[in-house]
Amino acid sequence: MNLRTRITLLTLLVLSLSLLVIGASVYALLQRYLYQTLRAELQDAISQVIQQYQAEFTIGSSGDVLNKVLPPSVYGEIDLLIPQNPTPESFVNEVIATTSRTLGQRLLLPPGDYAQLLQNKEVWTTALLPQGDRPPERLLVHGVLIKSPTAPLNQDTWVAIFVAKPLRPIESTLAELSRVFLFTSIFVLTLGGVLTYLLVGRTLEPLEAITQKAEEVSIKGRTRLPEPDTHDEVAALARALNRMLERLEHAFQTQSRFLADASHELRTPITAILGHVGYLLRRTPVNDVQRESLETIRREGERMTKLVTDLLDLAGSEGGWRFEVRPVELVGLLSELAAEYTPTFDGEVRVETPQDEVWVEADDERLHQVFANLVSNAIKAGARHITLRVLLPGDRVVVRVIDDGPGIPAEHLPHLFERFYRVDKARDRAAGGSGLGLAIVKAIVEALGGEVWVESEVGRGTTFSVSLRRATAPPPHLR
Ligand code: ATP
Ligand code: MG
Repeated sequence: MNLRTRITLLTLLVLSLSLLVIGASVYALLQRYLYQTLRAELQDAISQVIQQYQAEFTIGSSGDVLNKVLPPSVYGEIDLLIPQNPTPESFVNEVIATTSRTLGQRLLLPPGDYAQLLQNKEVWTTALLPQGDRPPERLLVHGVLIKSPTAPLNQDTWVAIFVAKPLRPIESTLAELSRVFLFTSIFVLTLGGVLTYLLVGRTLEPLEAITQKAEEVSIKGRTRLPEPDTHDEVAALARALNRMLERLEHAFQTQSRFLADASHELRTPITAILGHVGYLLRRTPVNDVQRESLETIRREGERMTKLVTDLLDLAGSEGGWRFEVRPVELVGLLSELAAEYTPTFDGEVRVETPQDEVWVEADDERLHQVFANLVSNAIKAGARHITLRVLLPGDRVVVRVIDDGPGIPAEHLPHLFERFYRVDKARDRAAGGSGLGLAIVKAIVEALGGEVWVESEVGRGTTFSVSLRRATAPPPHLR
């Protein structure tokens, strides 16, 4: 998961959590407020009923009391409890005198609530009021128990007064709040997600640009990253990277200068040795034993010359080759190479290509050096048939150098591109190899933005593959 997606997801998570907390708090506060208001209203209604009832009680006038005191939205019921010692069952089974403003129906509470009323003289509860065909109405009920104020009746007569109001308005307000909040949240989350994604993308753009430019460092001969004019972290990063590149370059330069100087210093004495050996061999009388020694000195001297040249080459690669990278026509280059090498050994070099012209991003001299190295390796190994096969996968060009030589044992393959690595030290050395050829090949190919790899099977042959960046063919007048 990339940074952009991660930041977006994190923002969405934080946003969702905040919305959840805000939503839950608003819901809880509103719910509390609405219930408190309703309770206060019922409390108020019941005290008015009690007051009125005590003031003008006459048997049979309770209905009037309720009608006079209660607003139309509040239900009310007054039960006159006849039994001496009322029990919860008295409300249901025994005879009580009832008057009500609940569409002619009684409020029937669960027995537990009646018990609580008898014990505490007060109860808060909810009850269901049947509504005929429609679903029953849920009510908040407040009930109190008072002593009957009447003298004619028994001292122990109790009056239960209930008032109630439907909970539907509260419930639908809360449901509406949830719905609105849900839609708002979805909108906020979508907007937040999209904005964050875009914004993070914009913020990271300069970083991506730097990454891309960093990839190009050395491939295109670029040694510095462009530093943006801003004063932000990205500019600081570019500056820091540039300082690091400078230090690295300095270190590389010091190292390769040493290598180059050493190689250069070695060249002069070797040339002198070879010159003197040549002089001795050509101009002075030498006997057979001396000649053999001198020949050996000459061979070793020549080998040393090649070694020194290769070392100079590698030193150059580390200091950063200044390539002239431009479109190079590959098929022509390979065909020339084939024509050059075929007469030098007992076999042939062939070119196989799907197109007559294939252009790659490269430096033509260096590219020639790469394939010359690979072909001469195959010839040195004893191959008879060498095929240079051009393939065109995607936007790359792959050249496979296929030989029918003895092959390379698998354990050597991972080390083949290391400096001074030779499979058969004695024999390869005798053949004049210094073991630097493939290291140079790899350095060149990588500097060109390509790759090189090897596959081999003992007894069947070896294939080196070089992948390069494909180029568009330049217009004819520029070739
Ligand atoms: P130089 O190229 O510097 O003259 P070299 O050829 O010995 O020396 P490399 O080109 O680096 O060095 O090759 C390393 C070793 O890999 C060789 O010594 C050889 O043993 C082995 N090798 C390379 N190519 C092949 C091949 N096509 N078939 C068999 N062995 C190979
Ligand atoms: Mg070689």
